[in-house]
Amino acid sequence: MKCYNHPEKDGVAICQACGRVLCHECVRETDAGIACRGECTESLRAEKKLQTELGFHLQNVKRSARLSSFFSIGMGILFILFSNMGFGLVYNFVLLLGIGFTLYGSVALLVNMIIFLKQQKRSKRYI
Ligand SMILES: [Zn+2]
Ligand SMILES: [Zn+2]
Repeated sequence: MKCYNHPEKDGVAICQACGRVLCHECVRETDAGIACRGECTESLRAEKKLQTELGFHLQNVKRSARLSSFFSIGMGILFILFSNMGFGLVYNFVLLLGIGFTLYGSVALLVNMIIFLKQQKRSKRYI
């Protein structure tokens, strides 16, 4: 393959932004990857920055969702344990509350995991 800008020169790399073949003179290695000089470098950097920010954001969302699920399950178990300490309407209510929390936490955790697996599949397809 020859350089997109210099048909007489051999290409050494491919721009990750526009996909053109580049020679030594045209190629530019950036912190975000290999790009043409100028515009492509900028767009590659911007894209990388966006991806990184999005990744961080997604990780935060996932982590907090998982934490709140565990919290709900923990609360549920506590309520269930507490309801075992006695009988009566109040304890029945607490038991129901505990079961509700545990179920909610489990379902939320499951949904969280399914979304995570789907995302992993999707990102693999891009690679
Ligand atoms: Zn380019
Ligand atoms: Zn060139």
